[in-house]
Amino acid sequence: MKPWQKNIRKVEPYIPGEQPDFNDMIKLNTNENPYPPAPGVEEVLVHMDADRLRLYPQTDSRTLVESLADFYHVNEDQIFVGVGSDDVLAMAFLTFFNSDKPILFPDITYSFYDVWANLYRIPFERPAVDEEFRIKKEDYYKENGGIVIANPNAPTSICEDLSFIEDILVHNQDVVVIVDEAYIDFGGTSALSLIDNYENLLVVQTFSKSRSMAGSRIGYCFGNKELIQALNTVKNSYNSYTMNALSIEAGAAAVADRTYFETMVEKVINTREWVKKELKELGFEFPDSKTNFLFLTHGEYDMIELFRYLREKKIFVRHFNAERIRKYLRVSIGTDQEMQAFLEAVRAFITEKEVVTTSL
Ligand code: PMP
Repeated sequence: MKPWQKNIRKVEPYIPGEQPDFNDMIKLNTNENPYPPAPGVEEVLVHMDADRLRLYPQTDSRTLVESLADFYHVNEDQIFVGVGSDDVLAMAFLTFFNSDKPILFPDITYSFYDVWANLYRIPFERPAVDEEFRIKKEDYYKENGGIVIANPNAPTSICEDLSFIEDILVHNQDVVVIVDEAYIDFGGTSALSLIDNYENLLVVQTFSKSRSMAGSRIGYCFGNKELIQALNTVKNSYNSYTMNALSIEAGAAAVADRTYFETMVEKVINTREWVKKELKELGFEFPDSKTNFLFLTHGEYDMIELFRYLREKKIFVRHFNAERIRKYLRVSIGTDQEMQAFLEAVRAFITEKEVVTTSL
């Protein structure tokens, strides 16, 4: 090994869901929203004067921050925005987790947390969720360097109520507690209402799921102004212009349309509830999702086989080759039509399996 090679930072990267590109595919593998963004977003894109791109964008993403402050009824100095919630979370890890004590997050959760912890050399522990994948709050009562809870959790889809989050906050007033609410709009109660009472709480959300804008990479968080200032200081020591001009304007247009947002979220929820019933009838088991995806298993069938079967039909779902969850598939909620096709394929798979077993 050459001397310079020894000094290359060694990291195990996060592996995102694949982005296959077939015309006729059904893509249920990365929890994207099947519906387009609010009509105002297209207006912004169509009317954007390319000459605007000569100039640097706003360093503080002011237009977007103002629209979020208005929508969520918080002060502008309580909001930080970044390039997807991944950027916001990565920046929060870098800003707040500088203790020698380990930060805590569940063993089954968003698999980027341990990647950032390793990248930034932050010690961490991962208390095990219980047999039903529920987070045990008592595991978070011990001394630590910070806490990260995805609520609803991913990929389990389980949402805890506000009293659960508050209990963790009550027991952890000396460290920053991050609540990652990427999926909160699909039925959970946000911890946003707690930011005025807990100065160490950071609530992170995204435009990627409920606002149908995964491609524009917008994430944001709420917290008391000291936390937000600290995030801005670190961000401005790293890259002042993270948010591009188009995303700032398009994001603000999306936030301005509350009716569209609420209607689309309701559509996804309705489809999810219908798919839950259908899958239950087929003998699938899954936690009661409050997200735009389901975390499925079946007592009789091999989920990896089902994954491959669906893939052949160009229906993409997600399988995690990780301990404790190998027997599960994560399936994003698409349109009614897409989910109908998914269910038909699942039924065909089951029928094929039954034919094989009875003929043995
Ligand atoms: N948190 C969780 C729990 C997620 O599942 C995701 C989506 N991969 C993210 C954060 C990041 O989403 P984005 O960067 O698109 O906002």
